[in-house]
Amino acid sequence: MARYTGPNCKLCRREGVKLFLKGERCYLDKCSFEKRSYAPGMHGQRPSRKPSEFSLQLREKQKAKRQYGVLENQFRNYYATAAKSKGVTGEQLLQALECRLDNITHRLGFAASRKAARQLVRHRHVTVNDRIVDIPSFQVSPGDTVQVREKSRQLGLVHEAMKRVGEGRQATWLTLDKVNLSGTLVEYPNREDIPTAVEEQLIVELYSK
Ligand code: SF4
Repeated sequence: MARYTGPNCKLCRREGVKLFLKGERCYLDKCSFEKRSYAPGMHGQRPSRKPSEFSLQLREKQKAKRQYGVLENQFRNYYATAAKSKGVTGEQLLQALECRLDNITHRLGFAASRKAARQLVRHRHVTVNDRIVDIPSFQVSPGDTVQVREKSRQLGLVHEAMKRVGEGRQATWLTLDKVNLSGTLVEYPNREDIPTAVEEQLIVELYSK
């Protein structure tokens, strides 16, 4: 499966917002965005012109894609499915991205970033309803229980990440059992339950052209 392998911090600087792609480092002074919040490249520090409508829409789409670690074709498929569904397209799009197995593994605190969560899933450390699932894009449904496998619980990656569980805002649509390293998706999240600065309406406008 194709994935982005370039420098993550450049993505934050390009989008002008912290995307929290590197786990622990993103919360420390080492964060590149704290030191250089301008766009990367030789023209990054130039005063920017007033962005066009298209540019705003494009940047919002890029921001969402990069935050969830999804490439263009896959993101377009998410949009197509959301557009066909009955609910509000933008909200359905974010909901589908939030219910990816790698995202839920990260939201539950089993991995410090979505990238680390993707690695956990790929390396068969995670189960859904007691069955190993190694597909990061797997869609978790309400009632499903996501768990770190018993023999994987000693992983340093998981232990480090679990230290942060309970800090900040806990997702209300997930329950967490810290002892058994498992969590359940109680219900699909509403827009207000999804802590992302993405303006999904701009993405809908972009794809509706
Ligand atoms: Fe973004 Fe994290 Fe890098 Fe900071 S450390 S620029 S938040 S990926």
